[in-house]
Amino acid sequence: MQSVSDKYYYWYNWAVTSLGLLLTVASIVALTMPTGILNPENGFIAITAIIGFVQIIYGLIFFRLRAKTSPWIAALISAMLLTLNVISLMQDTGQLHSQYWVLWAIQAFFSGLFGVYVVAAIGFLMTLYFVLVATGEAGTQQLDIITVGAVVGTYLIGAIGYLIWRNLYIDHETKRVQKLTGQLKTNQQQAEMLIQSISDGLVVITPEGKISLINPAAARLTGWEVDEAIGLDVQLVVKLLEEDNKPINDTGNPLKAIFGQLETISADKLLVKRDGKSIVVSIVVSPVILPKTKTVSGAVAIIRDISVSRAEEKRRADFISTASHEMRTPVAAIEGYLALALNDKVSSIDSKARGFLEKAHSSTQHLGKLFQDLLTSARAEDGRLVSHPVVVEMGSYLEQLTDSLRFTAEKKGLMMDFVIGSEEHVTAGSKVIKPLYYVHVDPDRIREVITNLFDNATKYTEAGKISVGLTGNNEVIQIYIKDTGAGIPADDVPHLFQKFYRVDSSATRTIGGTGLGLFICRKIIELYNGRVWVESELNKGSTFYINLPRVSSQKATELQASEAEKALTLSQPIN
Ligand code: ADP
Repeated sequence: MQSVSDKYYYWYNWAVTSLGLLLTVASIVALTMPTGILNPENGFIAITAIIGFVQIIYGLIFFRLRAKTSPWIAALISAMLLTLNVISLMQDTGQLHSQYWVLWAIQAFFSGLFGVYVVAAIGFLMTLYFVLVATGEAGTQQLDIITVGAVVGTYLIGAIGYLIWRNLYIDHETKRVQKLTGQLKTNQQQAEMLIQSISDGLVVITPEGKISLINPAAARLTGWEVDEAIGLDVQLVVKLLEEDNKPINDTGNPLKAIFGQLETISADKLLVKRDGKSIVVSIVVSPVILPKTKTVSGAVAIIRDISVSRAEEKRRADFISTASHEMRTPVAAIEGYLALALNDKVSSIDSKARGFLEKAHSSTQHLGKLFQDLLTSARAEDGRLVSHPVVVEMGSYLEQLTDSLRFTAEKKGLMMDFVIGSEEHVTAGSKVIKPLYYVHVDPDRIREVITNLFDNATKYTEAGKISVGLTGNNEVIQIYIKDTGAGIPADDVPHLFQKFYRVDSSATRTIGGTGLGLFICRKIIELYNGRVWVESELNKGSTFYINLPRVSSQKATELQASEAEKALTLSQPIN
């Protein structure tokens, strides 16, 4: 399709519609009050008025609708309507000798707007008209110079029009390519603008670990210039350390580890700037995976400075820690005095007062536990949890601990058992030797964890049994606390060890708690490079597992010896 720019079709339609209006008005005047040239003899008859009217309606209303999808076709319909009117005028005013041939010639000239086929069509139409007229089908016309001239003239003017309009033809293919290129350019500009303006640092890494793109925010965070950093090893520019300032190993470095796996890695690390200063950052590294081959073709790292929010968190934790520490002391005093008041040997009170004081005592105990938990969790968060690890043989340790815990369970009518090892029992003669499960932990901290898990098991179990068990292999020891209680909905399990998380159920609503217990447990176990998790089935029960690194008997003996030596040195008087 040969076409010119859309605006020409709109202009053309306006011209054609105006001509239609002119012809309609002229015909109405000629029919009602003929004057001068405005009389029916000049072709101003009813048919002209009707076609003119159709032209006006089309030009004003239907053209716009059609032009929305294709102005070319819309304008061609206008042209056809005018052609019809011109033929009708010529037919009434001397056919090929008609003065309206001028209008025809103008039409031929503008047919070039629609391309060579329409030019040919208008020439063909004139030839057909000539044949019809000459053969007497559409009238009687002499084959004279004027009639031949009309036909030849149409072709000639059509050709001139074509040559002129041709210069304005649009190359649609080029136009489309131009449009797409423009779009691509805008998209690229937009993407670039976005990358440049985001406040988080963005680094694109090649599979070889080199930087292929770095935005100004990442450059600011690392202290490098964008131009300098491109092409350098990412670990040279984005230098990471563990949060406690310890060096980072390859598996712990998300920028390195990403190439070994196909999943996003996020971590909080210390970023050492070029000038040696360091800030806490949250870093999220995602692999760029080729959809076809499913191979990693690079990685994208997003780095965010979180030192301000970290400082804020620390201030908050400090406040909680100081406040709970300060409040714990008077609460302990109140609890002590209430205990004294309730002690028959020290004081005598009537039974009504005893009832009130017992309630006050239990609430104070609860408050004391809350402050203690708040203090421990605040300390656990900023790494100030006191821990004095020693070698502990978990079997005998747990045996003693469960003996003291047994009472809580039995008070609630629950059964309780304790099992050490299963597979590893070694028989020497008739005597069963229990395996020794050594770990290097602070026994007070581990007691806190086991007691907490055991208390929860008792709290959330109405009937049945609580089992505590200990197993292990060469690497780890595993403690489990299993109950036959309410169980935990699967949706809650992933959040259970977060701070203040409590399952929202009728059971937890009636049973008091803070949601801090499991958070503290996790923090303590992580302190010893262990892991704590739960497996649970709703209405059947839950099993909490703790894995801790096992210390071999030989290593345990060595550690015990050095502990004893240390204790001896400390107890030596200084001369
Ligand atoms: P809380 O002070 O609420 O007991 P925890 O951190 O110890 O806080 O426990 C968090 C939530 O985990 C509890 O609110 C409870 O819903 C759920 N939970 C913990 N232990 C058990 C268990 N043994 N059986 C069922 N639900 C448990």
